[in-house]
Amino acid sequence: MFDSITGSLKGIIGKIRHQDDVASLNRATSELKKAFLKADVHHKTTKDLLNSIEIETKKLGIGQNNFIKVLKQELERVLTANGNQGFVFASTPPTVILMTGLQGSGKTTTTGKLANYLKVRNKKVMVVACDLQRLAAVEQLRQIANQIDVEIYFDENEKNPIKIAKAAVEKAKKEHFDVVLVDTAGRLAIDEELMDELKDIKNGINPNEIFYVADSMTGHDATKTAITFKEKIGIDGVVLSKYDGDTKGGVALSIASQVEVPLRFIGIGEKMPDLEVFIPDRIVSRLLGLGDIAGLAEKTSTIFDEKKAKEVSKKIKKGEFNFNDFLEQLSMMSKLGSLKSIIGMIPGLSSAMPALKDMDFENSVEIKRIKALISSMTPKERENPDLLNPSRKKRISSGAGLSEVQVNKILKQFKSASKMAKQLSSKGGMKGLHNMLS
Ligand code: GDP
Repeated sequence: MFDSITGSLKGIIGKIRHQDDVASLNRATSELKKAFLKADVHHKTTKDLLNSIEIETKKLGIGQNNFIKVLKQELERVLTANGNQGFVFASTPPTVILMTGLQGSGKTTTTGKLANYLKVRNKKVMVVACDLQRLAAVEQLRQIANQIDVEIYFDENEKNPIKIAKAAVEKAKKEHFDVVLVDTAGRLAIDEELMDELKDIKNGINPNEIFYVADSMTGHDATKTAITFKEKIGIDGVVLSKYDGDTKGGVALSIASQVEVPLRFIGIGEKMPDLEVFIPDRIVSRLLGLGDIAGLAEKTSTIFDEKKAKEVSKKIKKGEFNFNDFLEQLSMMSKLGSLKSIIGMIPGLSSAMPALKDMDFENSVEIKRIKALISSMTPKERENPDLLNPSRKKRISSGAGLSEVQVNKILKQFKSASKMAKQLSSKGGMKGLHNMLS
């Protein structure tokens, strides 16, 4: 994400020469304007931002460092202007949230992601299937609820979404749920019928908040539609979905400044863990290509078992990392969400290794082969890869449906990977990795 602004930034900053050189500042802001507009930042937002960047930089004194400082500060100012990020709980549970958005925006997926986000934080969550427009929506939500193991309320015999929503909220009250997320119908474009239905559900259940799910990839349209939803039904927060697919990134700035409601969460992949609280300074850091280690640490802390992590790190240090550990790490990785979303958080990694960004880690041929190979090993062999002599390798290769050359190649790779991990761990983990890349 954010390739266009990040990519132009070096050139823009390079234009700034020295104190008092107003012409060089003008050249930089004019380049910045082009980068903002190219990144889908609304023209009014762009104008306001450039204005304040120019004034504030002059106040501090024209210079490259001051320019970056002001740029960061002004972007953050726009993104924080509307208050609350993340989830706000009602004073008396359940907190009822109406999820709204156009069809295809990612509303149902986001409902699931939000439920998952709350569930891993030990909240009792119910999702409600009120999208009766899209044929598969109820089934989709059912599968998601099943996958993340949260309660779902649906009623196949009821055609009136208002009745379903009301009944669900009643049940949630009786059964002491913390949060109710109501997935509503979308349309391909805004129409009166949809707005009326949403208004009726809103009046029927009196939600604590209405979230609007905006598809980042629709650029300026996302902003326009959000404004209409705000005018017609009132929205309290925006979730920006598909932020991972948006290489421009400016839509967050446009929504914050033009719709004037807080951005709450961003969707950064198709999987359930691919949802993050919208934290302005983190987004700005990523926008400027500075990475987001804090976000990565938070993401991993909800998934990783600290004791286990210490054990693994000990093993790596001793060079004892085996195939069982590897399988376990793979399953943890998949809980973290898509690789692409993780890579964007490590400073410099996505520009240092652009090919990684598009890699589907879990479904890659390499990972499938490794899984097949491990499943053909005996428990002892998994524990101790050094046992693998030629006859064992032969047995494994036929069991896994791989050639002996492929088996040898994977084993060699595994050996050198664990050697590299050992070296990295002695150089200070992630810092070591970053040092190696920079
Ligand atoms: P709805 O019609 O608004 O309920 O849309 P869906 O929830 O069915 O989502 C439409 C498509 O967008 C699905 O293929 C989702 O997997 C995908 N999607 C939703 N959120 C994200 C996201 O944050 N990133 C990516 N890459 N895809 C997403």
